[in-house]
Amino acid sequence: MGKLIPKIGLEIHLELNTESKMFCSCPNDSGEIHPNTNICEICTGQPGVLPVVNKKAIEYAIKLAKALNCKINNISYFARKNYFYPDLPKNYQISQYELPLATNGYLEFYLKGEFKKVRIRRIHLEEDTGKLIHYKDYTLVDFNRSGVPLLEIVTEPDIRSSEEAKEFVEELILIIRYLGVSNASPEKGEIRFEANLSVGEEEKLGTKVEIKNIGSIRSLKDAIEYEIKRQMNLLKKGEKIIQETRGFDENKRITYTQRIKEYEQDYRYFPEPDLPLLKLSDDYINNIPLPELPMQKRERYLKEFNLKFKESDILIKNKHLAEFFENVVSEVKYEKDKVKIVYNLLVNDMLGLLMKYNKNFEDIKIAPSDFAELINEYFENKINIKIVKDILEKVVLENKEIRVLLKDKKIILDQGVIEKTVEEAILENPKAIEDFKKGKKEAIQFLIGYIMKKTKGQADINLTKEILIKKLENA
Ligand code: ZN
Ligand code: MN
Repeated sequence: MGKLIPKIGLEIHLELNTESKMFCSCPNDSGEIHPNTNICEICTGQPGVLPVVNKKAIEYAIKLAKALNCKINNISYFARKNYFYPDLPKNYQISQYELPLATNGYLEFYLKGEFKKVRIRRIHLEEDTGKLIHYKDYTLVDFNRSGVPLLEIVTEPDIRSSEEAKEFVEELILIIRYLGVSNASPEKGEIRFEANLSVGEEEKLGTKVEIKNIGSIRSLKDAIEYEIKRQMNLLKKGEKIIQETRGFDENKRITYTQRIKEYEQDYRYFPEPDLPLLKLSDDYINNIPLPELPMQKRERYLKEFNLKFKESDILIKNKHLAEFFENVVSEVKYEKDKVKIVYNLLVNDMLGLLMKYNKNFEDIKIAPSDFAELINEYFENKINIKIVKDILEKVVLENKEIRVLLKDKKIILDQGVIEKTVEEAILENPKAIEDFKKGKKEAIQFLIGYIMKKTKGQADINLTKEILIKKLENA
């Protein structure tokens, strides 16, 4: 037997964050907690109603398809996927089958510094189903989610490990958030995963097993790892893999047989007679703008800011943080080598403090221009690094504004205040003055420490030293 290699493809469902649903004007609000309030005749599948396509959903789908380097088809159409389930009141889901919106794309990412590329087979638009809420001996249905715009993204089986699947999904979520087409939160069910996995010799595909309903990235990783081991063990024992659909048990962290796979013909797909062909002109497609994407940002950061790959990746993986960083840098009076200082203050100090106090970057009242001012004061030697860090801590802990804190500091930093404190220190430490006169240089360090304590570290060290020596020499 040749070397056994896993081949993994992913099927991802993504809820788009449009204002209204896919085929009606009901609010698309995943935060709605009252069941069956955001519903109408269309999304609950009453007889005789007509669906109307949500233009924004098409635009969002094209955005993502473009970002994933897909060919966007000028003509595609919707189809009915027929199946019976209590969360699907029409008994069919409006989806796309033959001729999907987009095909033949790819996503590039890095796995531990190594460049990877996974092909995207297709992206199509469809509608979400309702939600079943199970109780001990009965089940309730909430149709608020029925008809929420859903994108299905299907990859080729190019992924080779659970780590790679995780990194792929993380990069995909990042792109989605940069585009702003969805929050893509796995916890909220806004993005859901299915994996198909086979193990075969070298490049040959084996018998494919599908793992359905995976709710988190960690579960996706664990499900893939478990399934690779299971299939490899069976093959090594000379047993056969059965083509089937398996579930993932969140508690036992294993996959289990759900049902023997239904075939596509079981869905009796046919073109949706209530919707026209989806015709998109080249002009329309080309005019949908894309923002700078994470991969482009990585390349730019490496060139422009001279940051290491890992450093810039920390910024890029948080869209808000990256924007904040760029805004600060644009307002800081800097030479290129000083970007590293901005980076360290933001990522090491600021994020460190946020972690320490268990807060999010988004919770903090902080304007990039204020952060830049803080750094400029430091670069101009008006405040020392200790004050910079003190201010950051107060910003995080007390949610005070940098501008206000800087004003407080400046009063104490006033040269007159330092002079007065130095004079007091001299009066209060006659022994140290005597030592200094005897030529003991340590006395200066002692006095500076004393003054820093008195000013709670808010005096500029250089200025204090300068004033102190002048006063001591004249004493
Ligand atoms: Zn509706
Ligand atoms: Mn689907």
